[in-house]
Amino acid sequence: MGLEKSIQFIKGVGEKRAALFEKKGIKTVEDLLYFFPRSHEDRSKIKPIDRCEDGETVCIAATVYQLPLDRYVRRGMLITTMSVMDESGIMQLVWYNNKYIKNNFTDNGRYIFFGKVSRSKQGRIQMVAPVFEKYGSERFMGRIIPIYPLTAKLPQKVVQSTMELALGEAGTLEEYIPEHIREEYKIAELNFAMRNIHFPRDFESYNIARERFVFEELLVLQLALNERRGKNADTPGYVFNDAKCIRGFTDSLPFDLTGAQKRTINEICRDCKSGKQMNRLVQGDVGSGKTAVAAAAIYMTVRNGYQAAMMAPTEILAGQHMESLSQMFEKHGIHTVLLTGSMRAKEKRRVLEEIALGTAQVVIGTHAIIQGTVEFNNLGFVVADEQHRFGVEQRAKLMAKGNNPHMLIMSATPIPRTLALILYGDLDISIIDELPPGRKPVRTYAVTEDMRKRVYNFIYKNIKAGMQAYVVCPLVAETENSDLKNAEELAERLAASYPDINVGLMHGKMKAAAKDEVMSGFASGDINLLVATTVIEVGVNVPNANIMAIENAERFGLSQLHQLRGRVGRGGDQAHCILITESDSEVTKKRMETMCASNDGFYISEQDLKLRGPGDFFGTRQHGLPEMKIANLFEDRDILRLSQKAVKSLLDDGIENYPLLVKRCRALLSSEVIMN
Ligand code: ADP
Ligand code: MG
Repeated sequence: MGLEKSIQFIKGVGEKRAALFEKKGIKTVEDLLYFFPRSHEDRSKIKPIDRCEDGETVCIAATVYQLPLDRYVRRGMLITTMSVMDESGIMQLVWYNNKYIKNNFTDNGRYIFFGKVSRSKQGRIQMVAPVFEKYGSERFMGRIIPIYPLTAKLPQKVVQSTMELALGEAGTLEEYIPEHIREEYKIAELNFAMRNIHFPRDFESYNIARERFVFEELLVLQLALNERRGKNADTPGYVFNDAKCIRGFTDSLPFDLTGAQKRTINEICRDCKSGKQMNRLVQGDVGSGKTAVAAAAIYMTVRNGYQAAMMAPTEILAGQHMESLSQMFEKHGIHTVLLTGSMRAKEKRRVLEEIALGTAQVVIGTHAIIQGTVEFNNLGFVVADEQHRFGVEQRAKLMAKGNNPHMLIMSATPIPRTLALILYGDLDISIIDELPPGRKPVRTYAVTEDMRKRVYNFIYKNIKAGMQAYVVCPLVAETENSDLKNAEELAERLAASYPDINVGLMHGKMKAAAKDEVMSGFASGDINLLVATTVIEVGVNVPNANIMAIENAERFGLSQLHQLRGRVGRGGDQAHCILITESDSEVTKKRMETMCASNDGFYISEQDLKLRGPGDFFGTRQHGLPEMKIANLFEDRDILRLSQKAVKSLLDDGIENYPLLVKRCRALLSSEVIMN
């Protein structure tokens, strides 16, 4: 049977079940085989009844000794009990509210039961709601059984038995990882691995099988990304001959560039001269000066006769970029325009016209830039700032606005290079690993709720001394969870408690114009204390703000906390960040400790990944990559390293020598989850 056949060809799968499977993304036999279990249940041990221990989950093989008895207790609850025996003893089985259970058994029938055992002080042995099969024809007893991540309508048993049939009917699978690679990296063969990932002989075999699929997943993904990058690398790009002109711009900045900024600018210049389209990611910690790098590149673009566009994820950030960049460019006679969704129609028309004519040399905006109505004259360079907020699709739309313009992506969630190679496998990477001189690290403290009053008094004192502060809350309104601090309510309370300071409020549900008003009020110093949701996460730059308190800090990801914290400490004054948490879970404690101990975004993102643990795959989706089926980028980093080595050796060999592997990569590239 072919792997690409519909699962409807498997016995027991009709249209209805096929539809349920399809909800899980399973259409073909191959899809099904690659639907891996989330855990396993060890039903391999069959124990004599008298050896079963309290709390143990085991199988017993026993004969019905007394048929089920129904008993109704308070509020109509039904308890069904049945006694079974083996050579060693008697056990009582109990089910709650299961009217039909008694129809399954016959007097003296022999079954295998699997469940959790309890022993009373009197020595009575019980098993609650066991699963069971008839002895002698058992399929899912006496061995290790897969447990699948399921929807309610698709019972475990159905998937288990469908899987078993599929494994049988699929026949011998064709191995696509070359033998010498499997030998060198000690990777199990496909057929062994496939059987043992689902129905392992023992847990050791399972681990060997799992390693194989982790390796395979990472290998295929990297090869696919490599192919995509190869395609990108062949795309012709505009040639910017005049790179030296950049000096004229950088000399006009009020500061000297850091070494890392210079290096990154050089990398960009080299790309833009090469005749190939640039696809470059700049990773730099918050405050490392990515804007200046982008500005230098934009300046070079304009001097070479092309338009440049910069897209930001929020109107606030676009507005701030507009302010600072137009100021920088004005001196050089460069015309910069802002394009956002909330602009008046008349104003927008004028800007659109300038963009189409080319008189607007630099366009800064939100996703409004990628709307259908926007036409550029000769777009040669695009920048996507704070890339983690952009989908791959949006990036593609931005690119489509020109004829293969150079592309610069700036990310403020720095991640370790090994991971960047995976998550951004189709991009070249520059890392700004140096902060401008004279920055004082933000002092960070984690406190519990009972300290709140002191925290706000500390903030108040600083405000009276002329500084400004942020308070960040996780949500706007108390929707599902009432213990979350409501930004609106908190702002009101603070305004009432401290009537002599000006408290502002900003959240995502406000109209853009209202947000702008609050933001400029804060930037000008009219507002002393800004209560906000994460809308302030990206970009905003108010150097006089030196304290940030974050309510319910445990609700945020570490990288997000770091990002938020980056809003303070932008002036010369010592800055403070106070994380207020309620939860005293171990994980929360560790996370808060990490924040207090480090100001290094790269380190923090690595810890974040570690503390999130398995099951949360570091937003691979956000990066336009398929969700990892089995690999965990943190826990499997050893296998990741091995696979990176294998990728290199396969590419050195010439990947075309491995047609089966190439086929798999193509399949991944053509699936909708990974963008071409
Ligand atoms: P981010 O990398 O987070 O986007 P920004 O580009 O907003 O950082 O820069 C943060 C601040 O640092 C800005 O006020 C900017 O003017 C300033 N800055 C950038 N580069 C330098 C430098 N080389 N020396 C001093 N200040 C700098
Ligand atoms: Mg920035």
